[in-house]
Amino acid sequence: MITGSCLCGGVRYAIDGKIGPALNCHCSMCRKVTGAAFRSRVAVPTKHFCWIAGEDLLTRYESSPGTIRTFCRVCGSTLVSMFDDNPNTLGLPMGTLEDDPGIRPAFHVFVGSKASWFEITDELPQYDALPAAPMVRTDGSSS
Ligand SMILES: [Zn+2]
Ligand SMILES: [Zn+2]
Repeated sequence: MITGSCLCGGVRYAIDGKIGPALNCHCSMCRKVTGAAFRSRVAVPTKHFCWIAGEDLLTRYESSPGTIRTFCRVCGSTLVSMFDDNPNTLGLPMGTLEDDPGIRPAFHVFVGSKASWFEITDELPQYDALPAAPMVRTDGSSS
């Protein structure tokens, strides 16, 4: 079981099951929503995820057609993203995790939108968009 929460602690969640893959997203929306150079995100099967507190504090926001982002309306922490075309998977911002999820971001995506002031200095693969589905659905190991 892995747990996580927003900054104020009002919203808490738990994950029970295998998750992944994890990636670093450099798209302009993830940069805006986090205020950071990129967002580290892990794919979580919806069936393995549950809110354990504060679900009523969530605000939902459609950031692009079919993609719903959520955040805590008290502290503003971003929480899961939901996808109309893939309701079985959630996008979880890894910065809200409290436990080590056991996997690490395995690649960078949307590097074409990367912040001009940030340089990627690791050896992970870089993609201009999301890689093809089979790759995204791997178990998140770095191979
Ligand atoms: Zn909060
Ligand atoms: Zn993004």
